[in-house]
Amino acid sequence: MKPESCILLTKLLKRHFIVMNHHHSIKEFDCRDPNAHNQIINYLKEIFRNQNYQLKKVSDLAQKIKKGVDGISPFLQQTTQIICPHCKDVCCISKHGYYNYEDLVYLYALNMKPPHYEFGREDTEPCQYLSGSGCTMERSVRPSGCNWYFCDSLLDHMEMKPEYDKFDDSLQDIASLWLAMMEEFAGISSSQIR
Ligand code: SF4
Ligand code: SF4
Repeated sequence: MKPESCILLTKLLKRHFIVMNHHHSIKEFDCRDPNAHNQIINYLKEIFRNQNYQLKKVSDLAQKIKKGVDGISPFLQQTTQIICPHCKDVCCISKHGYYNYEDLVYLYALNMKPPHYEFGREDTEPCQYLSGSGCTMERSVRPSGCNWYFCDSLLDHMEMKPEYDKFDDSLQDIASLWLAMMEEFAGISSSQIR
């Protein structure tokens, strides 16, 4: 990643952590724990059912994020299909295949639900969504840890491509939209956090 991108993302994330600190207890749940996962799901179902109108901006931002990820997906796909088959340390392991709190907010804002999970798998097992031809999930609804992770091999390959600058700009736009979505959600849901 180019240095200026790193600086921007660092600033964005710093702001994000300040905002999200209010939601620390609910946000820091262990996404591999089925009980904690179900509690978050119930909380989100309730808030999206009861405050659907107020959450319209959150949903609009989620739609823009989805469109943004769909937009960068072909470039990423072109890269992963060349680089990943030769990987000796595949990152699609079980511990990376879970949604965190923000991912679940995003899914509910899209009026979607997380797919069926098999909890209790070993962290180092292959991810339950991994198939012989890669991830079985549409990129825009994969856990954010999957979509924000670029190993050195991927980055080295992408940076040589003429499309890289456009991709980098789009990625920053998506990051800004994500932070805006979570800030908006935090503002509306804060009264419900106990
Ligand atoms: S993204 Fe990188 S670490 Fe993950 S499977 Fe592909 S080459 Fe390997
Ligand atoms: S990209 Fe797909 S297969 Fe890989 S860890 Fe994420 S969810 Fe699992």
